[in-house]
Amino acid sequence: MLIKRREFLRATSILSLSTLIDSTIASGLEKTERMPALFIGHGSPLNAIAENQHTLAWRSLASKVTRPTAILAISAHWQSRNGSFLTSNPQQQIIYDMYGFPEALYDVKYPVKGFPGFKQEMLSEGLQQGIGTTVDWGLDHGTWSVLVHMYPEADIPVVQLSINADLSPVQHLSLAREISALRHRGVLILGSGNLVHNLRLRKQEAAAFDWAEEFDHIIARKVLQGNFADVANYQSLGQLASLAHPTNEHFLPLLYVLGVASQSDALSWHNATFYKGSISMRCLLVS
Ligand code: ZN
Repeated sequence: MLIKRREFLRATSILSLSTLIDSTIASGLEKTERMPALFIGHGSPLNAIAENQHTLAWRSLASKVTRPTAILAISAHWQSRNGSFLTSNPQQQIIYDMYGFPEALYDVKYPVKGFPGFKQEMLSEGLQQGIGTTVDWGLDHGTWSVLVHMYPEADIPVVQLSINADLSPVQHLSLAREISALRHRGVLILGSGNLVHNLRLRKQEAAAFDWAEEFDHIIARKVLQGNFADVANYQSLGQLASLAHPTNEHFLPLLYVLGVASQSDALSWHNATFYKGSISMRCLLVS
C-alpha cells in the first residue's frame, strides 16, 4: 500500500514537472507583426472529410495568413455558464460532439498541442475580465473540422475559449477587444460559426431562402462598414434575426473576430455561399 502511494506520488510529481516544463516552453510569445484574424463558416461536420468549395476556401484563407505561433479558437460548439473558460491541456483532445454521421468522421484525428500558459499570455496582453481554465474540454468539431484543412500538419498549438452563454452580444464584443493585442504575439484568432444558421429549416438545395440571404447581406454590409455595434445588436432585425439564428451560438464567434479588428484592418468576405438554404458559409478575413 505504502509503495503504491509512493509510486503515485512519484507519478504525480513527474506529471506536474512535465506540465511545468510544457508551460515554460509554451509561454512568452514573441512580439510579431499584427496577425490577421478569421471567421470561418463551418457548416456540416462532414466538411472535415470532404473536398469541396468550402474546404478549398478554408485552405486558401490559411495560405493568405502568416503562419501563427498559436491559434485561439472560439467555436459555436462550446458554450459555458458562470464564466468563460480556456482549455489548458498540454495535449489537445478531439471531441466528437456530433451524432449519426458516417464512421469515417469519427476516425479523424488531430493530434495537436495545447498551450497551458495561454491564460497568462492573455492577462499580460490586456485581459481584464476573469476567465477560468479547464482540462475538461478539448477541440470540438467547430474547430477541428476546419483546422484539419487549414493546418493539416497539426503542428501549431491550439487553445479554445468558451462562449459564455451568460454574456450579451455586446459583452462578447468587449471581451474580444481585451484580447486583441494577442494579434501582435503571433496568435491567430479564429471564430468558427455561421453567419446564418437555422438547421430546422434546412432543405436539400443549396440556394438560400430569401430571409437567409437578406440577413446574410445586411450583416455582411454592416461588417464592411465597420458598424460592429449594429452587428452585435442583430436582434433588432426582429423576425429576420430569429429566422437566421433561432439560437445565437453560431453567430457569436463572429463578434470575437470583429472585436479584435482595428480601424486600420482590411476586411474581406470569402466563400459567400449557402449550404442547404439556411446555413451561410461566409468567411471573414481581417488583415
Ligand atoms: Zn456548427
